[in-house]
Amino acid sequence: DDERLINAERKVEDIDAALRPKTLDEFVGQEAARSNLRVFIEAAKKRSEALDHVLFFGPPGLGKTTLAQIIARELGVGFRATSGPVIAKSGDLAALLTNLEEGDVLFIDEIHRLNPVVEEVLYPAMEDRALDLIIGEGPSARSVRIDLPPFTLIGATTRQGLLTTPLRDRFGIPVRLNFYSTAELEQVVHRAATLLDLSIAPDGATEVARRARGTPRIAGRLLRRVRDFAGVEGAATVDAKIADASLTRLEVDSIGLDAMDRRYLHMIADIYKGGPVGVETLAAGLSEPRDTIEEVIEPYLIQLGLIARTARGRALNDRGWQHLGLTPPASKPS
Ligand code: ADP
Repeated sequence: DDERLINAERKVEDIDAALRPKTLDEFVGQEAARSNLRVFIEAAKKRSEALDHVLFFGPPGLGKTTLAQIIARELGVGFRATSGPVIAKSGDLAALLTNLEEGDVLFIDEIHRLNPVVEEVLYPAMEDRALDLIIGEGPSARSVRIDLPPFTLIGATTRQGLLTTPLRDRFGIPVRLNFYSTAELEQVVHRAATLLDLSIAPDGATEVARRARGTPRIAGRLLRRVRDFAGVEGAATVDAKIADASLTRLEVDSIGLDAMDRRYLHMIADIYKGGPVGVETLAAGLSEPRDTIEEVIEPYLIQLGLIARTARGRALNDRGWQHLGLTPPASKPS
């Protein structure tokens, strides 16, 4: 899975960081989210208060971490980042919280993966800016309450529904991030090309954008591979032909699906006659964790209308059959 080119999950931190926009104006797309955030940031600054807690949800690579950093920068406050699975004990979270300075942003990626005991510590911290700590053990144990400075928690998760209700309810500003349009991704590609000092023609950028699965992180990654091919072939500018040739060699097809996506679609088509088939069965057949299937592979296939999630499992739509160049079984009502 590490080798999967279009995998949007974060693996190469430094490279992502190099392409990160630094202001809301530089951030491409997500108009609704951006204009709302602009208002909330302005209002918090006017009142000299910490911004309300923000929850970002949406598939990996759409800009959740980037926006969290931008918010801190626009508020002019410090930024601390961690992730749900990294905070093992309540003491770890307590240490993070007590080290915050007034107004700071604390970013918790994959917040749905917080351990429930740690999550309990977060409730009073978010609501009352207080930390309830148990000191000592057994009969001599006592509880102390520590006040925290005003701060903003920014959580990120792939799907809002993965959060427990008490946690979800404590975020005043929930923000959903959507897949990007090809036009938006073209802007992302042009911007990244400039940062990478790479010359790219408009039709080259379109070709990369069309195949980036609606995801800026993938656009950046594809662009870097295309740059390698162009470099080896001695091309001064990346045009559609070079982009197409390199991405085809990398087995990324015309709509951005890779070998893994096609294996997924073929499994439903060839073995389960178009479905419905349960996600667990697919996960076992593909030797992929269920989470990866549900959070990384399926959202884009659903967005494209290739598959549907039904109560009885996953089913291939007409478009899915078409994309595979197959005809649905005749007996199947469509
Ligand atoms: P997430 O936290 O949602 O997984 P990131 O914020 O880490 O995603 O973004 C992944 C990569 O995509 C980064 O390199 C970032 O610079 C780039 N990126 C994300 N959103 C945008 C955007 N709207 N405009 C330009 N680049 C973006």
